[in-house]
Amino acid sequence: MKKKFTILGCGSSLGSPWITNYRGNLKKNIKNIRTRCSAHIQYGDISVAIDTSPDIRNQFLKNKIKSLDAIIYTHEHADQTSGIFEMRPFYWKNNKKIPVYGSHRTIRALKKTHTYCFYERFGYKPIMKPNVVKNLFKIKKKNKTLSIKSFDVIHGMIKATGYVFEKIAYISDCNRIPKKSLKNLYNLKYLILDCLKIKKHPSHFNLEDALELVEIINPKKTILTNLHTDLDYDYLKKNLPSNVVPAYDGLSFNF
Ligand SMILES: [Zn+2]
Repeated sequence: MKKKFTILGCGSSLGSPWITNYRGNLKKNIKNIRTRCSAHIQYGDISVAIDTSPDIRNQFLKNKIKSLDAIIYTHEHADQTSGIFEMRPFYWKNNKKIPVYGSHRTIRALKKTHTYCFYERFGYKPIMKPNVVKNLFKIKKKNKTLSIKSFDVIHGMIKATGYVFEKIAYISDCNRIPKKSLKNLYNLKYLILDCLKIKKHPSHFNLEDALELVEIINPKKTILTNLHTDLDYDYLKKNLPSNVVPAYDGLSFNF
């Protein structure tokens, strides 16, 4: 069975370069061209998007992802959700509502900001089915089941959601992991982790914070994501411990 995880985008909320063409410390390297954070899980026939960044349409096209069975959301911020509008063709293709998973807070916010996705309006049918996640949940298709565990992480003023499945954890936006969530993060094969900047930041891990967590939980491999313009790909590659790598758009692995 094909089981593949893909980083669709690994940039911060502005992407790189920014719309103004500002590129900070980033050298000329295709791996420094970063779209906004999203990821994809292929689990046999089951196709799951993690977040719908503003770049999601091109991310799907570039990675040749042609089906979608569910979306799981880490939180409600615009760089994780505003591409939700692009997902409508999968409702038409599947001829059924797209199941959407997130915390109570995230689902509530999505219903408020993207009302048309969840409620019938002016004859337009709702295209998504909201599901509030608590701890363990399952995504099923035919005879396959993908089990995913959700847990809270602190992301500045809000709680965001981290996800773990098959010893892979995805935490794209986080400045602190509460003790009771930490227990989900031991014995990981892969950790995909927020690492916004070199400097400290009130709502994200910086490089030092990310490496500190890696020391504590010791995953086999860590992939740093949500990278801002001060974090050059080659600089990170050269200076990180051997089991920690910077993400780039399109990075994928089989599991
Ligand atoms: Zn955020």
